Amino acid sequence: MNGTADLFARSAEDSYATFESVKAWKKATGRPVLGYFPVYFPSEIAHAMGFLPVSLLGASGRVGLDMATAHTQSFVCSISRSVFQLSLQGNLDVMDVLLFSNICDVARNLSGITKRNLGDRRIEYLHYPINNTSAHAVPYLREEYRRLADILAGVTHHPLEPEALRRSMELYNRKRALQEQLTAFRRARPGLLPYTEYYNVLRAGGMLPVEEYLPALESYLAELPSREGKPKDGVKVMVLGNFCEQPPVMLMKSIEDAGCFILHDEALVGERWLGLADLTAADPLESLARGYVQNLEPMTVRFHPSVNKQKALLDRARTQGVEGVVFATPKFCEPALYDYMIGKPALEKANLPYLHIEYEESASSFEHARTMVETFTESILFD
Ligand code: SF4
Repeated sequence: MNGTADLFARSAEDSYATFESVKAWKKATGRPVLGYFPVYFPSEIAHAMGFLPVSLLGASGRVGLDMATAHTQSFVCSISRSVFQLSLQGNLDVMDVLLFSNICDVARNLSGITKRNLGDRRIEYLHYPINNTSAHAVPYLREEYRRLADILAGVTHHPLEPEALRRSMELYNRKRALQEQLTAFRRARPGLLPYTEYYNVLRAGGMLPVEEYLPALESYLAELPSREGKPKDGVKVMVLGNFCEQPPVMLMKSIEDAGCFILHDEALVGERWLGLADLTAADPLESLARGYVQNLEPMTVRFHPSVNKQKALLDRARTQGVEGVVFATPKFCEPALYDYMIGKPALEKANLPYLHIEYEESASSFEHARTMVETFTESILFD
């Protein structure tokens, strides 16, 4: 257990700024690397074409933001600035392609400003459909994926092969299924798997080659049930809003230390939310596009006209038996704040307590947040 837990912890740490394991992989294989900005990216396509897809989740205080700050407004979120800083100071030089998408206006503009400042690099932009009820959404996204594959073929000089894509989809289906098992274990026995360890396991999944990650995760999961520990008391909560910029792990630890069991949160949700892609479909590219467009998972960051977000929030809270909701929103993140404004009245009506905390990825003091959460949990326990 220690070996795999250490591997995940090392890999998660490497993913903040150094990317040493990515450099080693590239040197050993001679193959290209694609770095992608959250929230969602179809890693299967890059993998099938020989790339190592690497999730860019921000530096969380590991680098200063002086260069990025000189180029950006003071009211943009920290993850956009730290990823930009990493690219400006050379930490992302190992990546042959940097990819952004239309999660929000900041991510959209980050693509442009990065391109302007790193003109010699392939900076690409994937535009996901907005109206997912339109009959054109699936064919449109399939064509976006085809365009992406053509761009990647410009690096590898090999076209995307449907059978290679199918094999990659199988691997990534397996990865999502195992990560779901991990989450289910934590939900059932939260006292045996601290959030910080759980987070490292997930974060390593956006960094390690999937062929290395899968056996490590299988062996880790096989040993988890033999863990021993005394049952702890805790208020069961959901944490929402942490889908793009990652909260400092110490903030999440503070929430746990203040008496909460985090049964659900949105960290790295883009890696997991597609579910299982249909491997039997005649056109695997279309299958991936269909998986994105037709997914009705109430992922808070995304709007789908068929999903009533307020009802979805309450349904999830009831299904998981949570006693409160913590909205942890990154500073200056409009999508997270919109979701907070939508969720808040629904929770008030349902008489379900909630708390709002704002964070920056580089924050290093959590006393205030811990006091807020302690007051919140006490108000639930002694209500
Ligand atoms: S943290 Fe929020 S504002 Fe910043 S890039 Fe992500 S979604 Fe956009």
